[in-house]
Amino acid sequence: MIPLDEAQAHVRGCCPAPVATTAALDGALGLVLAEAVVASEAVPPFANSAMDGFALRAADTAGAPVRLAVVGTLAAGAAPGRAVGPGEAIRIMTGAPMPTGADAVVMVERTSVSGSLEGEQVEVEVEVPVDNHVRHAGEDLESGQVVFPAGTALGPGQVGVLASINLGEVPVYRRPRVGVISTGDELVADGSVLAPGQIRDSNRPGLLALLAESGFDGVDLGLVPDDESAIESALRTGVGACDALLTTGGVSMGDFDYVKVVLDRIGDMRWMQVAIRPAKPLAFGMVDGVPVFGLPGNPVSSMVSFELFVRPSLRAMAGHVGTERPLVRAVVEGGMPRRPDGKVHFARVVVDYRDGAYRVSSAGGQGSHQLTALAGADGLAVLPDGDGVAEGDEVEVLLLR
Ligand code: AMP
Ligand code: MG
Repeated sequence: MIPLDEAQAHVRGCCPAPVATTAALDGALGLVLAEAVVASEAVPPFANSAMDGFALRAADTAGAPVRLAVVGTLAAGAAPGRAVGPGEAIRIMTGAPMPTGADAVVMVERTSVSGSLEGEQVEVEVEVPVDNHVRHAGEDLESGQVVFPAGTALGPGQVGVLASINLGEVPVYRRPRVGVISTGDELVADGSVLAPGQIRDSNRPGLLALLAESGFDGVDLGLVPDDESAIESALRTGVGACDALLTTGGVSMGDFDYVKVVLDRIGDMRWMQVAIRPAKPLAFGMVDGVPVFGLPGNPVSSMVSFELFVRPSLRAMAGHVGTERPLVRAVVEGGMPRRPDGKVHFARVVVDYRDGAYRVSSAGGQGSHQLTALAGADGLAVLPDGDGVAEGDEVEVLLLR
């Protein structure tokens, strides 16, 4: 068996570097900037009002209350027309451009309007300083300013900012396209009645969901029987169409474990027995420059293997600077006994934050075939080799959400 960090380093070291491209802004969520973005426009583009109210000269409010003549109205979207002179005010809406001459806004709540023969008048109740409720051009972003450096991951906030500077095409790293293949003669995926010995294929939908959740482009490459030539042709098809491939099953010590046989023959493969539980076997190989992750077949193992090997590697391929899930320390509730076996165990746990600390308890059955506990888990508690962790002791936990 080899230590987890050695296996992770090998896999990461083989994975190709991120590839720069461009993406439409509306498809850029989750991608990473391949270049710094510079603002070609100021945001806001012009000085405007932060309130519904009256644009005026701050000096005119000295000794408030004061009465000013209302000489116009400016809605958001209107071009500024008439200037504001001494003793005048223009009714202004939030986002409308500041009229020339005005240097402050008084919110409508601090005013009252009355009509007279001379026209509309506003009584301003408060004295305000220059710039009161005025948003200046470029206050968010100046034209020519670096908005985001290369390596920035694009979340909803970044997408909004890029839209604010009219960036429709974004320089990003390509979103990895990742093929998923299930292998196993026992698997059924068409919804038919199970014949004796058959089970449903749960790995492929689960892994495709993990890919989608992690921001990658999953490609369903179907279910392949335990047959060398079928596995070879599925792998070759996948390698031609994808940036990375995931297979499940066929990498253990069984008589029909052909994935590692094929990977060894057509690729540069390393078959590893990693000192972890679950997810001990991993066949990792490069086929025509494409990383192929031969994940174990047990459902929990395939998903844990995804978390430990696939997700960090794909994040690196996608240009992410941070590739790991957060690791926190947590107090164990209920105790987590285990037996010494030379492996690090990853226990599926429910995570709570209470009384100033993370707290973890078992999420249910810990067998590698018991996917339900993983489905209910918020994290994987790291149990070092030994007799386990007692109630009240601390463990490290990889947060899955
Ligand atoms: P293997 O790694 O092929 O020896 O499979 C290990 C265990 O995982 C066996 O019990 C398989 O039936 C099961 N298994 C393999 N592939 C899948 C799958 N796609 N969905 C659900 N269970 C699977
Ligand atoms: Mg199998």
